Amino acid sequence: MNGFDASTLLRQDLLNFPPYRMAAVKIADMDRVIKLDANENAFGPSPKALAGLAAMRHWNRYATQDELRPAIASYVGVDPAHIVVGNGGDELLDLLERAFLNRGDAIVDLPPSFEMYAKYAEVNGGRVIAVPRRADFSIDVDTLKRVVAQDKPKIIFVANPNNPTGTLLSREEIERVLALPALVVLDEAYAEFAGESYVDRVPTQPNLFVLRSFSKWASLAGLRIGYGVAPVRIADQLFRNKSPYNVNAAAIVAAQASLEDKEYLLANVRRVVAERERLTDALTRLGYLQPFPSRTNFILCRVKRCDARGLRDALAERNILIRAVTNPQLRDCIRISVGTPEQNATLLRALEELTPA
Ligand SMILES: *Cc1c(COP(=O)(O)O)cnc(C)c1O
Repeated sequence: MNGFDASTLLRQDLLNFPPYRMAAVKIADMDRVIKLDANENAFGPSPKALAGLAAMRHWNRYATQDELRPAIASYVGVDPAHIVVGNGGDELLDLLERAFLNRGDAIVDLPPSFEMYAKYAEVNGGRVIAVPRRADFSIDVDTLKRVVAQDKPKIIFVANPNNPTGTLLSREEIERVLALPALVVLDEAYAEFAGESYVDRVPTQPNLFVLRSFSKWASLAGLRIGYGVAPVRIADQLFRNKSPYNVNAAAIVAAQASLEDKEYLLANVRRVVAERERLTDALTRLGYLQPFPSRTNFILCRVKRCDARGLRDALAERNILIRAVTNPQLRDCIRISVGTPEQNATLLRALEELTPA
């Protein structure tokens, strides 16, 4: 017996890494909770995607993303050579940072924003420079410019629309960021809800990488599939570095069918947007929540007269899950994903009962 404790060999710089906190809902329990904590799509996948999965027989075979790239390319309107598909958009963030960062190289994060940019930077030995957003969640481009000149970060991560704030940036802000000498990753995980995208710029803008996902608009979060629209040389490099079968056959089948049924899915996107507006008004009327305007499928709310975490826990006791925002700037905020009309009505009834004195 060898008593050597191999855990002593772990990278020291990762030992105190915070674990990602998520509500663990068993698959068998998913019909019993109202799950509004992870920005999933409450309307569910396309029936054609479900039928495609049920009919598939070749699970014994490795499948590759090459058969899916042309369909994605025609959906976004670029050549297939720009498309790299990943095991969720998250995997592409990791692959990108791995491909660009040497130990000590910097990335820029614009908090409050998606926490994965900084996480994968640290996993890949990078340094994170935070350029906080202003109170209205716009970008402080002047400070960003100074940071780029001084610290020469390799990548600037811009979620547009942003998570957890729901904010869409102005064209002018985006243009000013794109003019900087760094790779700009525009994370458009919520583009279909916002109705705006920069994918058409990628072929002529060699410092722009647009990240997209099937998790939100196409209701495929559990299958893990996202893609990058990248300058061809960057796409080519990611193909050299990634594991060969990073996208599973089920995700390929479901994504292909989803694109063939995009009218169905985009009609549901419009329902989510309509529900979002109704829910925002109803939340405002409760009196103790202050929703921020959103261009996504979720709503950020400031909580007055009670504690955000306490409110989350009280809802969880009623089997309604929402997120208490973890970004330090937004400790008094909750984030609510838009549900079906019935789920939103149940949520509103519970929130009314929980109105603080
Ligand atoms: C959901 C989300 C993603 C991607 O999610 P995947 O499920 O990994 O595709 C990327 N960025 C933001 C801001 C998100 O909210």
